[in-house]
Amino acid sequence: MNIILLGPPGAGKGTQARILVEERGMVQLSTGDMLRDAKESGTEMGKKVADVMAKGQLVTDEIVIGLIREKLQTTEANGFIFDGFPRTLKQADALAELLEEMGQKLDAVVELRVQDEALVKRITARSTCGSCGEVYNDITKPIPADGKCINCGGSEFKRRADDNAESLRTRLMEYYKQTSPLIGYYYALRMHSRVDGLGEIGDIKAAVAEKLDA
Ligand code: AMP
Repeated sequence: MNIILLGPPGAGKGTQARILVEERGMVQLSTGDMLRDAKESGTEMGKKVADVMAKGQLVTDEIVIGLIREKLQTTEANGFIFDGFPRTLKQADALAELLEEMGQKLDAVVELRVQDEALVKRITARSTCGSCGEVYNDITKPIPADGKCINCGGSEFKRRADDNAESLRTRLMEYYKQTSPLIGYYYALRMHSRVDGLGEIGDIKAAVAEKLDA
């Protein structure tokens, strides 16, 4: 099964994708993670996108489609979770073509719906474990007092450079302008379903599972 988790920054796509990876053995393809890896490794492409990402703007379709193409061609998987991709109609068309070339298709698109005020609160309080990517929140899920990750015991935690109020404004605007038209696109293809992304992680997980198993 190949699925897209759709939603604005901070909607919980990464958290739900990690749960699906653990419970269903699917493979998460996050273009945001791939771009951050490229930036950290100092590749030419990483250097090129660093500024755009810090401002919260979108990287070009060519770059992200190229990243996804390469991953799809080199990864064996019992289903992919697309997280943060596609973000434009051009990327959505490209994904359909890439999957078709592989004799596969997209099965479902689950939109995580969260109000803007909650997104701002979540994002400005967010940090992740540098080793395993476990997501923490200063208020609802603080880093344990012993300074060790609950998942892997790692002791280094990161805050994303673009998780600040100013970049977030641009990221939200990009979402509404460029990505939210995908809701209508997938609705027309009868693939779209929506889940309330506000609440307990376990409840959201159950709601996502219900949509996928429907
Ligand atoms: P994310 O981790 O999904 O929030 O992505 C972080 C940043 O990477 C975004 O704000 C964009 O600058 C860039 N990015 C990630 N995925 C895409 C995509 N599919 N299209 C364009 N830019 C992307």
